[in-house]
Amino acid sequence: MAFLEISGLRKRFGALEILKGIDLELEKGGFLVLVGPSGCGKSTLLNTIAGLEAITEGDISVDGRSISDLHPSKRDIAMVFQSYALYPNMTVAGNISFGMEMRGVPADERKAAIDKVAKVLQIGHLLDRKPSQLSGGQRQRVAMGRALVRDPKLFLFDEPLSNLDAKLRVDMRIEIKRLHQATGKTIVYVTHDQIEAMTLATKIAVMKDGEVQQFGTPAEIYNNPANMFVADFMGSPA
Ligand code: ADP
Ligand code: MG
Repeated sequence: MAFLEISGLRKRFGALEILKGIDLELEKGGFLVLVGPSGCGKSTLLNTIAGLEAITEGDISVDGRSISDLHPSKRDIAMVFQSYALYPNMTVAGNISFGMEMRGVPADERKAAIDKVAKVLQIGHLLDRKPSQLSGGQRQRVAMGRALVRDPKLFLFDEPLSNLDAKLRVDMRIEIKRLHQATGKTIVYVTHDQIEAMTLATKIAVMKDGEVQQFGTPAEIYNNPANMFVADFMGSPA
């Protein structure tokens, strides 16, 4: 059984079916990128994994256990959004520490965890700053730090780089790849950027109108697109 298994997943909002029977799986330590045009259902799919949206039909399991009916806080999943939503009045260290404080983690353990995450993300020199004193890329790193420090089973990223300028996007893409390699975490990552998908993914799911058009490795998808849509979207050679 794969680490993450999504089977027969449907999501309806009223009469509108947004996810039309999604089947996907991901091995432990894998990096699955959901890619597709705006409105195809990428965020909705991610939100169902996080538990922010209830599913209409089907099942999602992580590590051999169905999570479909679990409250989001019980899923051991951390999500990083496009808008970083840092606490403006707290320092970087405070932002990273907050969740641990809520869980009653002792101060010395919190400090050790913050230092470890700060090292991985290279934000050690920023720990005393407020979010307003950070660049977009630095804020995004802090948001990742806040997720990483929880040491979740699964990471979800919803277009984390789309608010950044082009140069920073490339730098952060490299950072995220490094982060994945350094931590071996299992990641599901949403983007509408084909290059981001090709460089980060171990597996890609190309979506259109609530359906997966093709699921495979970056090389499979690029070299053997299943249909014209995939070929066109991924910029495969004709
Ligand atoms: P993507 O992330 O790929 O851009 P979304 O998952 O955000 O796409 O949205 C997919 C479709 O579902 C869109 O047509 C959107 O309008 C619709 N949708 C998303 N959330 C809701 C909701 N809460 N109620 C009704 N429709 C929604
Ligand atoms: Mg979206």
